[in-house]
Amino acid sequence: MDQSRAVVIGGGIGGLTAAVALHQRGWDVTVLERAASLAPVGAGLGLAPNAQRALDVIGLGDAVRDLAAWQGEGGLRAPDGRWLNRMDGRVAAERFGGPLVLLHRATLVSLLTDALPATAVRTGTAATLTDPGTADGRPAVVTTPEGETEAGLVVAADGLRSATRGTLFPAHPGPRYAGYTTWRTIVPEPERPFPPHETWGRGRVWGTQPFKDGRVYAYAMTMTPAGGQAPHGEKAELTRLFGDWHDPVPRIIAAAESDRILRHDVYEMNTPLPAFHRGRVALLGDAAHAMQPSLAQGGNQAIEDAVVLAHHVGAGGPGRCAAALAGYSADRLPRTSAVVRRAARASRMAAVSSPAGAAVRDRLIAAASRFGPGLVLRGMDGIADWRPPGRTYASGTSRP
Ligand SMILES: Cc1cc2nc3c(=O)[nH]c(=O)nc-3n(C[C@H](O)[C@H](O)[C@H](O)COP(=O)(O)OP(=O)(O)OC[C@H]3O[C@@H](n4cnc5c(N)ncnc54)[C@H](O)[C@@H]3O)c2cc1C
Repeated sequence: MDQSRAVVIGGGIGGLTAAVALHQRGWDVTVLERAASLAPVGAGLGLAPNAQRALDVIGLGDAVRDLAAWQGEGGLRAPDGRWLNRMDGRVAAERFGGPLVLLHRATLVSLLTDALPATAVRTGTAATLTDPGTADGRPAVVTTPEGETEAGLVVAADGLRSATRGTLFPAHPGPRYAGYTTWRTIVPEPERPFPPHETWGRGRVWGTQPFKDGRVYAYAMTMTPAGGQAPHGEKAELTRLFGDWHDPVPRIIAAAESDRILRHDVYEMNTPLPAFHRGRVALLGDAAHAMQPSLAQGGNQAIEDAVVLAHHVGAGGPGRCAAALAGYSADRLPRTSAVVRRAARASRMAAVSSPAGAAVRDRLIAAASRFGPGLVLRGMDGIADWRPPGRTYASGTSRP
């Protein structure tokens, strides 16, 4: 077995970042992705300075900051349009040592795939872990329709419904429904501009943020039982739920194309795994610690995982796997478990649905924001200011 062969199961953000980081450390990496293509549709991705610093480690931070919209002015509103809190991107950048940015997921995916050898990614290839191997002995084995592959390292980046997680930790209860569903869509640049905002109603949230190219990313959530589908289509459902909210919400809904509205129920792993590794396999991203999107950290944490994993395993080689993967788990498990808990707490604020509860919440936010934007940004302290191990970096040094 070639000790330096790494197989990544799953070509999402986490798997691709791990592939680039391992490739740069000298691993011979193959990414196996079951979908026919890597092109993600219809969604934006907020990247905080923590993930940007991880991307700096693999040389992609500046490209991301160049292609992304820097989140500046904007804030939190009520459905009637009142501002509950104003955001100043410069304050956030000072606090966390770099800007909060937004880009299309496809932009990050193409930056990552461009940083890999052309043959490294195999789409349309579902993979199954058939043997996790032993840390410093037997290789791991991954099976695809084409046959078996041995590997010195397997990265399980197969997402929320990770079959690999189930194989490695069969007693773990898996993700549980967080109580709400989400929609995401992208619409063309609107004729009349508007300030970016997130708006909190009673058990409902709407957010509208521009990309750098002028198109607009919109997302929404509502509390509802799992597995629902709108009887008259998701656009009609958005109109029913948000059609009387402040400008620009109704015109964004009007501009949305029905077949480009993504709807996903939200699940989280509120019971942490006992470890993020077993044998020669490392779990990362949603497979390891799916979280609620309230802090926009799921992908950010997957990116951190990938870079920390590559830091621990280094260039691989005999006798290193056990200590390296134990070090990876020890670094990542406590941090990501804390972020999962904080994301759940942040969601509870947005999910308040009684009129009295929402009124109290809104008054508290408005009062807190009078003491400065720092009070609201405090929710990201210890998360957005994270620094990757073992190197210096240059996050947020240049504005586009
Ligand atoms: C509404 C919403 C908004 C969000 N906004 C943000 C945000 O702004 N910022 C942020 O950081 N995060 C955000 N997230 C979270 C983020 O989307 C996820 O945390 C992130 O995509 C996880 O990446 P991943 O690579 O771990 O998993 P995924 O992106 O799910 O990738 C897993 C991949 O594995 C593949 N796969 C699965 N099984 C197999 C198999 N057997 N063989 C081969 N391939 C397989 C799948 O096809 C998939 O491509 C949001 C989530 C939601 C729901």
